This record gives sequence, structure tokens and C-alpha cells, in this order.
Amino acid sequence: MREKILYYSTNRYLAAVEGRKPAEPVSFREALLLGQAPDEGLYMPETIPRLSLKDIHHLKGRPYTAAALLVAEAYLGADMPPETLAAVIESSYNYDVPLENVVDRLYVLRLDRGPTASFKDFAARMMARLMSHFRDPGMRLNVLVATSGDTGSAVGEAFKGVDGIDVYILYPRDEVSGRQKKQLDTIGGNVCTLSVDGKFDDCQNLVKQAFADPALAGLNLTSANSINFGRILPQMIYYVYAYAQLSEPGDEIVFSVPSGNFGDALGCEYARRMGLPLRRLVMPTNENDEFPRFLETGVYGKISPSRACLSNAMNVGHPSNLARFFELYGGTVDRTGVVHRVPDLETMRRNIFSVAVSDEETRQTIRRAYERYRLLLEPHGAVGWCGLERYLEQAGKTPLCVCLETAHPAKFPEEIESLLNISPELPVSMRDLDHRSGKPLPMAADYEIFRRFLLTTLKATD
Ligand SMILES: *Cc1c(COP(=O)(O)O)cnc(C)c1O
Repeated sequence: MREKILYYSTNRYLAAVEGRKPAEPVSFREALLLGQAPDEGLYMPETIPRLSLKDIHHLKGRPYTAAALLVAEAYLGADMPPETLAAVIESSYNYDVPLENVVDRLYVLRLDRGPTASFKDFAARMMARLMSHFRDPGMRLNVLVATSGDTGSAVGEAFKGVDGIDVYILYPRDEVSGRQKKQLDTIGGNVCTLSVDGKFDDCQNLVKQAFADPALAGLNLTSANSINFGRILPQMIYYVYAYAQLSEPGDEIVFSVPSGNFGDALGCEYARRMGLPLRRLVMPTNENDEFPRFLETGVYGKISPSRACLSNAMNVGHPSNLARFFELYGGTVDRTGVVHRVPDLETMRRNIFSVAVSDEETRQTIRRAYERYRLLLEPHGAVGWCGLERYLEQAGKTPLCVCLETAHPAKFPEEIESLLNISPELPVSMRDLDHRSGKPLPMAADYEIFRRFLLTTLKATD
């Protein structure tokens, strides 16, 4: 029988030096349903389970769900029945996970075949089903999300049709693209969209106020944001899967992960600590270069406001999961970007390679990869590929390498057409978008009105 893994808060060090009582460690269930620790830190597993190399190699030629079960059971084996976990995984991963050979032992892992053609589908779908399982019997959860575009539809699609959970997505009426609006408004079912007469900040403020409002405490409000450990766990799986498919016994592997809030790369860091033979984790960023600069100089400075780059899902000036990376390497950084303990830089540099990729280099990479290899990349994947090339320039020999492509090129038609003169074919999930229908509810950027809407609309029980 496995022991239950407990989760502690990244703020426990700060609590200790400030003489406060640290937040109590909690079970996975609480970490999942709370999202953030009461002391505003991020939950981390107290122990990291190990996988045997034999079990990993045994996944070769087997479906993605087999890798998912191996990784998820290592964390959740004592928290839920194995057949329930298997059902969660089967219904989360019902789409392709292509590994494309580019040249020699270089591959691209396409994480863009889910319902919103973004790698965020992997984490959001599994988290939604875990939340449904772990809620109290008979309880309805109400997920509130503020979005500037893509995250909202990934979360909405992930929860669509999931038992016992309703989702309310707030987006700024005039700040999302036509296609994004269509994706958001047409999810339907238990997913309701509110088109807010205001900016993204107004949407975020409405949601924040609702979470802090004692009058709404009975409504089981919950968030589905990227700091939830329930979203990190699914992001360990594809590293194990890809290694198992491509490796021979004795191989080491390099992953290149285009990085913004560092949740995706954190999944790889955990996979390393679970026993994956990782030679190096490559973490390229766009022009928001606070992390590569930190690795180089040892001095951390967040970028505020963040820089607007082509790979817009990575425009992050202070990655929220940096707190977890620091903690894993014996350091502490708080939410505002102040470093209280410097992590073990030498080990970090040995394990992680990070560079900043400019928009100009991103465009050149899209062109070069297509001309040289007929490899079709969108801006996020191009940052990943460029980072991998920079790594290889200084690496000596070429090991087994996998670059993650985190979105589908068809989500960036103008950029691809102007650079390559081709129009990428839409993935199945986006093909019928024009024929879908659905309308958002209009909402004022006014907390009293929003609050009245929540009190009259939301249900707290099944
Ligand atoms: C969110 C996102 C990223 C960055 O992932 P992080 O986990 O935030 O580092 C990269 N590419 C795409 C397409 C994304 O949506």
C-alpha cells in the first residue's frame, strides 16, 4: 500500500523566518480544491515518488494513457481507487499525441491536438475530472475564470460536461479576437460566458472580489488557475511518454520547453526527480528574459509590465511557478519577485539551460525550420526550437532531443501566411467553429451587479 503524499506551501520558509506558523500540509484533495495555500504560497509534494527505468521503458509502443496511469498512480495511488483514476485518464486523453521526427535524433512533440489546440488541454482536462471526483458528494462546484483569450477556452472545454461543476468565464468584450470569442461563446452546456464591458483587469478584479466576498462563501467558488498542483501533475506525463517511445536503454534525453509561467517546464523538472534520465532541461523564453538573466548573473529582477511578444501566451514578467523551481533548488522567491534565499545556482545551471529568443529570431526560426526540414512551427514552438538550437551549438554531440510544440500553427494564420506563404490546415477541433452557435451574457464591470448575478444564478448542490 502506498503512503499518501502530503503537500506543503512554498511560503513555509518565509513563515519560519518571520516567526509565523506555517500552513499545515494537506492531502492532494485539499491542494486541488483550494488551489493556493492559505498563506498564499504554492503547494508542493513533500516527497517525490520514483519510477523505475524498467517501468518507463515498458511504456514503449503503448498508448499515452498507459504513461498517464503510471505517473498519476505514483502520486494518487493512495488517494483514489485505481479504476476511478483509470477512468479519469481515459476520458481526459482521447486525442493524438504525435511525435514528429525532424532530423537525426531531433523530434517535435505536438501537444496541440486537444479540443482547444493548446497544450493547456492536457492539464485542464485531467484537473477538471479530478475535481469532479474529489468534491463532496452532492456538492456543485462553481469555477470562476477571468481570461484574456486562450486560457478561458481551454478551461471551459476541459470542464464541459463534467459532473457537478459549472463554469463561468469572464472575458473583456472588446479585447478578444473574433475566433477566440467564437471558441468561448460556443462551449455551452455547463459553461457560461460573460462578455464584460471592460478590460481584462476588470474581469480579474470581479473574480478576485467574488473570491474574497464572505456573502458568497456558500457558493463553493473555485478557481482553475495554472498554479494549482492539479495542473502540474498532468504536465509530467508527456515527458515520460516521449522518452519511453524514443529511447533505447541507457539513453539520456534533452527537452526544450517554451516557457512563460514555468508550469510546463516544472512538469519536466519533476519528471527528472522521479527518475527520468534527463540530460538537460532547456527553457527558452521570449523577450521576457528575467529567468535567463537570473541564471547568468544570479540576480533576479522581474519585468513589469511584461513585454508584448509574438508568443503571447509566454508574456510573463514574473513566472508564478518560479517559486516552485526556487524551492526545489533550495531557494525562496515571493509573489512580488523578491528573492529571500538564493537557490543552488551551480546545480541549477548544470540541470537547466535558458536563453531569451527575440521576436525577430522567432520569425527567422519559423522560416528556417520550414525551409530546412518542412517543420511547421507557430511562435511558441519556434521559441522552443530556437532555444534547442542554441543549446546544441554548445553541447558538443547531439543527444536525443525533443522540442515541445505547445499550440497549433493554425491558431496563428496571419503570421504563418506572411512568413511561409502557406495557410496551415485547421485541426479537427477548430474546423467546425464557424458553424457553432452560442451567445455570451453581457455583464457590466461593476461588482454589485456581478455579485447579484452570482447570488441568483449559481447552485451549490446537485
Ligand atoms: C501557456 C502557454 C505556454 C507557456 O507555458 P507555461 O507553463 O506558462 O510556461 C507556452 N505556449 C502556449 C501555446 C501556451 O498557451
